Amino acid sequence: MTHDDELRPATLAVRGGEEHGLGNATQVPVVHSVAFGYGDVDEWLDVALCKKPGHIYGRNTNPTVAAFEEKVRLLEGAEAAVSAASGMGIISAALFGLLRPGDRVVSLKDTYGGSNRLFTEFLPRFGIEVALCETTDFAAIEAETAKGCRVLYLETPTNPTVKIVDIERLARAGRAAGAVVMVDNTFATPLNQNPLALGAHIALHSATKYLGGHADALGGVACGPADLIREIYHYREINGASLDPMSAYLLLRGMKTLHLRVERQNRNALEIARFLAAHPGVSQVFYPGLESHPGHEIARRQMRGFGGMLSFMLRENSFAAVRAFLPRLRLAHKAANLGAVETIAGPPSTTSHVECTAEQRAAMGIPESLIRYSVGIEDVRDLIADLARALG
Ligand SMILES: *Cc1c(COP(=O)(O)O)cnc(C)c1O
Repeated sequence: MTHDDELRPATLAVRGGEEHGLGNATQVPVVHSVAFGYGDVDEWLDVALCKKPGHIYGRNTNPTVAAFEEKVRLLEGAEAAVSAASGMGIISAALFGLLRPGDRVVSLKDTYGGSNRLFTEFLPRFGIEVALCETTDFAAIEAETAKGCRVLYLETPTNPTVKIVDIERLARAGRAAGAVVMVDNTFATPLNQNPLALGAHIALHSATKYLGGHADALGGVACGPADLIREIYHYREINGASLDPMSAYLLLRGMKTLHLRVERQNRNALEIARFLAAHPGVSQVFYPGLESHPGHEIARRQMRGFGGMLSFMLRENSFAAVRAFLPRLRLAHKAANLGAVETIAGPPSTTSHVECTAEQRAAMGIPESLIRYSVGIEDVRDLIADLARALG
């Protein structure tokens, strides 16, 4: 497409990356081919050396996968993008691709459970030191970063307590320390927040969630400057966790309605958060769109919408109360995923932090009685009636 930089996000979600050169199909075809053949060896070599566009082998690149990467790249306003088979696949590739033994990582206590496992279990095995800071203590994060680190790894809003991290402030600290600043942008989506525009180097997504939006395909993507993305790509092509073309197709198809879904989810979530905050059966609501949220002002500055994720605690603060409450919700899948068209609810112990023990969750400040609620695109009146019935 020409003049992509001038197109607005809704247009890019629908049209971006869709020019594929594969016949006259108006939709990006699913190219189910492991290999791409060349009669001319010189041309083959040029493609292999990236002197000419084209594809060689499916673990490296594929046209359907490339279209998906291009759509996300445009939405994040990045120079380059690379995908992986899942969110954890791309987060692992970003960290293992850029880190070396002796390097140091600074991150937050409240990252996604799988990312937390990388920081506490896997990176230390390779001689990489990880300092996990109190998520909203920005001065402490700045101090740790100033001691020197190769990667400053952020996530905002966080999963599942929906805390807000000041990307602009911390990206400045990260850059001053010579670190690569990464932000997991899964919860916000590129429509609500663009970490690169706020100073980060790399924006990461679990495409499994909002980008795909239909809970039928796993995927992950990293966006950033070409030199860093090339290193992440190189690790991914050797590690082999490449995105499958059928999943890339499903994610591309899902993304065409990203702007409609996100607009609706932003609106539904704010209404539901206000309803829950006023309900006597609920003791606390975590949603950055509420004026009472400690990160509200930062969220207003760095986000265009507050997103579709919220969490709350029942007045009766016990896991037993959660166990009794969840089955009473009729209009929510009780499941581990999030960001789909359907509303989804669950406790962190079976969803975002299933990989962690109760002690690890406690150390991360995640109450066992928390309920994570991923707001879908249903009629909000039905969702509120469902919550009212379940609470009543
Ligand atoms: C789900 C999730 C991931 C991991 O993504 P997968 O596609 O499940 O591997 C990473 N970060 C956040 C914030 C997530 O919600």
